[in-house]
Amino acid sequence: MTRPFDLEQSVILAAILLLPQQPAPAPNPNHYWQQQVAYEISARLDEPRGVLSGTERIRYVNRSPDTLSTFSLHLYLNAFRPGSRWSDADSIEGRRRFNDLREPNFAFNHVRNVRIGGTRVVPIYPFTPDSTVVRFVLPQPLPPGDSVSVDLEWDARPSTVPRRQGREGRRFDFAQWYPKVVVYDRYGWEEHPLYPAGEFYGEFATFLVDLDVPADQVIGATGVPVCGDPGWERANRNRSKPIDYRRDYYGPETPPPACDGAATGRKIVRWYARDVHHFALSLNPDYRYEGGRYGNVAIHVLYQPGDESTWGGNVAVERTATALAWLGQLYGPFAWPQITNVHRIEGGGTEFPMMIMNGSAEQGLIVHELGHNYTMGILANNEWREGWLDEGFTSFQTDWFWEMVGRPSTYQETEAGILQLDLDDYSEPPSLVAEKYRDFGSYNTAIYTRGKLFFQQLRYIVGDDTMHRILQTFYQRWKLKHVDEAAFRSVAEEVSQRDLSTFFAQWLHTTELYDYEVGDVKTEGGERAGWVTRVEVVRKGNGRIPVEVGVVAEEDTAVQRVDGLAEREWVTLSTPTKPREVVLDPRGLTHDWNMLNNRKRLGGLLPRTLLPPPGSDFYFHPYFATRSRRDRLTVGLQPTVWYNDAGGVTLGIRSRNDYLGRFEQNVAMLTGSTGWGVDDEVKDVDFFLRAKNPVVLRAPNLSQTFDAYKIEGRYGAAATLEWSRQAHLSFGPTRSHRVSLRWVGIDDTRYLDPGYYDDVGIVELQFANGISNQSGQWNLSARSSLGGGLAYNRDGLAFSGRSDLDPFYFNGFIEGVARRDLAHGLGLAVRGYLAAGVSDHAAAKQRQVYFQGSDPLSQLYNPFLRSRGALLVRDDFNYQSPGGAGIRGVDPRLSTSAIAALNLEVEQGVLSRPESHLFKRISIAAFSDLAQGMGSMSRTPATGTIRFLSDAGIGIRAAHRIGDTEFVTRFDFPLFVSRPELAQDARAGDDDLAFRWVFSFEQPF
Ligand SMILES: [Zn+2]
Repeated sequence: MTRPFDLEQSVILAAILLLPQQPAPAPNPNHYWQQQVAYEISARLDEPRGVLSGTERIRYVNRSPDTLSTFSLHLYLNAFRPGSRWSDADSIEGRRRFNDLREPNFAFNHVRNVRIGGTRVVPIYPFTPDSTVVRFVLPQPLPPGDSVSVDLEWDARPSTVPRRQGREGRRFDFAQWYPKVVVYDRYGWEEHPLYPAGEFYGEFATFLVDLDVPADQVIGATGVPVCGDPGWERANRNRSKPIDYRRDYYGPETPPPACDGAATGRKIVRWYARDVHHFALSLNPDYRYEGGRYGNVAIHVLYQPGDESTWGGNVAVERTATALAWLGQLYGPFAWPQITNVHRIEGGGTEFPMMIMNGSAEQGLIVHELGHNYTMGILANNEWREGWLDEGFTSFQTDWFWEMVGRPSTYQETEAGILQLDLDDYSEPPSLVAEKYRDFGSYNTAIYTRGKLFFQQLRYIVGDDTMHRILQTFYQRWKLKHVDEAAFRSVAEEVSQRDLSTFFAQWLHTTELYDYEVGDVKTEGGERAGWVTRVEVVRKGNGRIPVEVGVVAEEDTAVQRVDGLAEREWVTLSTPTKPREVVLDPRGLTHDWNMLNNRKRLGGLLPRTLLPPPGSDFYFHPYFATRSRRDRLTVGLQPTVWYNDAGGVTLGIRSRNDYLGRFEQNVAMLTGSTGWGVDDEVKDVDFFLRAKNPVVLRAPNLSQTFDAYKIEGRYGAAATLEWSRQAHLSFGPTRSHRVSLRWVGIDDTRYLDPGYYDDVGIVELQFANGISNQSGQWNLSARSSLGGGLAYNRDGLAFSGRSDLDPFYFNGFIEGVARRDLAHGLGLAVRGYLAAGVSDHAAAKQRQVYFQGSDPLSQLYNPFLRSRGALLVRDDFNYQSPGGAGIRGVDPRLSTSAIAALNLEVEQGVLSRPESHLFKRISIAAFSDLAQGMGSMSRTPATGTIRFLSDAGIGIRAAHRIGDTEFVTRFDFPLFVSRPELAQDARAGDDDLAFRWVFSFEQPF
């Protein structure tokens, strides 16, 4: 969640205290109301059974304007058991947690003997089989202003699989452990089953809790201990510091002490808390205690044995004080007497009023969870309806904390990540009800990340000082109340003196794209009078946000803001020196998806359309990593060199563009063959041009590629459209569809290996589909392709040397791959393949089906594979390209018109070093490939018709990464080949069993 904290506490405090302090306007409660609730709970822990049993009295005053006829309680521990809505949501998304728990491991909270106003009532479970909500019909309606008492008995047990609660031996993290009054607000009873998405919403209440526990337990809880021994004295690691119990914090309102009468070996501790909407509790006889204070707030830290250096020595106490200092400056003084920071069973962290349960003592985690005591605890939002108001708010203020102490802002990273989701239509707005999100991952992204971005954008719009005043005013006016979007927006608008309706509507309720463009620019002026630049700002997206417009002049700059609402608006900027460039959003803060149109150079001779956009980033491309930027086009230039037997050494230059890692991935290449090193001395100048994913064709999940080329005896063009989408980003199927049209002509057969090519051109249309998914232990994928084309020769097909060729052909394949782990590091992979390339007679050689690997047209763009004598296809080098029937041991030129194949592999990892670049993983494998050829057999080599071919052997592979490029080096040894004379690595006299090898830079399938 965060990195370890490494700054002097005093430096941080000094930085925090520099924040401006300004008075906030007086609170205006409007017509706000909230219910009045008081709990009296008396509970006894049966440690061996893990069950806390209690009696509970709830005094409830109806402060609403409505007459109530029912009364509801949340029994949230019932979420952590089989059959709950939580468990079902887990199962749907492939998580197995509570649905598999058996007695005595799952959690429960049972109520019995419920009396309202003294009358027995019958429980109704409106979401059966889920029992996290229980409802009762009131014996008498409860009019506004009236009160009622509810008495009940209950048993509560946390689950052994921890999630925001849990138990492990004598350790107990109790949350949502008592029957808890459902909030009644202006929408009615907020009865809500507990799901993984969304946390809680509670009525502010007074809690009087008597706990009867074994005498050696150390207790952390919401509230203050009125009487009894929470165990802190015995656990205290800092004997010189007296324990700061704060027993009398509530003064005369404090209930009288009543801690006597415990059985032998047990103790009673009475706790009291006011104005909190939840009461949390953590027990562990091995807790170590350290205490401290920040201002008027006592700090209790309870940590585990072994935490002495990470939590102990005052580390966690000081970090908690730092967080209190930051939050106090940001919002206002803490509303409660103490904060308890415990090292819980589960990792991560969860917030409760006056208590944070954390998996570590990292500063960022403490700032985050303690921050929730403000945004959730004191400013209490409804987490199912508006989770962004606590997770987004809290993430925002945690990032601001890090910025204040010198860390770089996370805005750019967050914004770029969210943008990728927006561009592919994965984004959902932060305002949805928690369980209505597509899945738990989407909920988290919307609530935390997009929610944080909302507050960061607001800070950009209003500025730091105003943002700070908004937070202070919001806190002063709404502390210890339920808050919502309307409450926050009214404060933000009042303090900033701005209409923020468009901004709130867009960021919270939609996922619009933003795109502003520099339109016309007019300049006037001269050396003496200075210069005036008029800039037209064009809004091309539906998103509207204020935009900064910058003019960069010879010796100075000017910046001004437009409100970004109009489709076109003009802004005038003055500069003393001559303007050179106009830049929109120079700080990159508007979430503008296309920043390639944000700059305009003034003057210049060439028309703009002939050049890369202004500000393009030219660099030397290091081959294995393409530079990508958020704000401008990158242009990577690199020299190229390779060799083949026709053109000899071939030299060239290539440029590769990129924007955002997905757009304008254009390639331009110019090469010349020198004829060096070969007899043919073919001297050609070739080119390759590719336009990929131009911004003007942006569409979600869609990729477009357009190629035109003249390379090594071939020329042609291709256009491909591909759509690919994963239903859920963390699970579920990924589907893809592709259509491609391509033309490959031939003008110089000297480059071509006749084993792969007939002297004909082809024009071909293909439709392809793919799907991949996880099913239980299996990773499954399937692909298919179907198409057809025309073969031609300028002088007639007969001139190709193939009198049997037909002009029209059809081809296609179906491939299925299944993989699974059999044991640790041992994997099984199976591939089935069925393909045909047919016409009345035979398809051209380059359109037949290959026994060993992929067909020649798949290798057209690879200079190390495509031409005769190229580096990887020389006679002395046994290179194997994946694809085709995958019979890896046979001559790659073998082809036929139809084939059925099966490939099997078992792979055992022998070394894993994920951190290293080379040899990240080394594995050994055993394999076998089987294929049945059907239909006519190709002419080369002339060995008669091939029907059945098979091989088997062992292999060794290593996985590597250089730059962004992942690849493998794979040596396979097909020791058995059923027709040894057809082996790729064939030597005269080889039997079907012989030593042979093939090599590849790719996995076999
Ligand atoms: Zn949080």
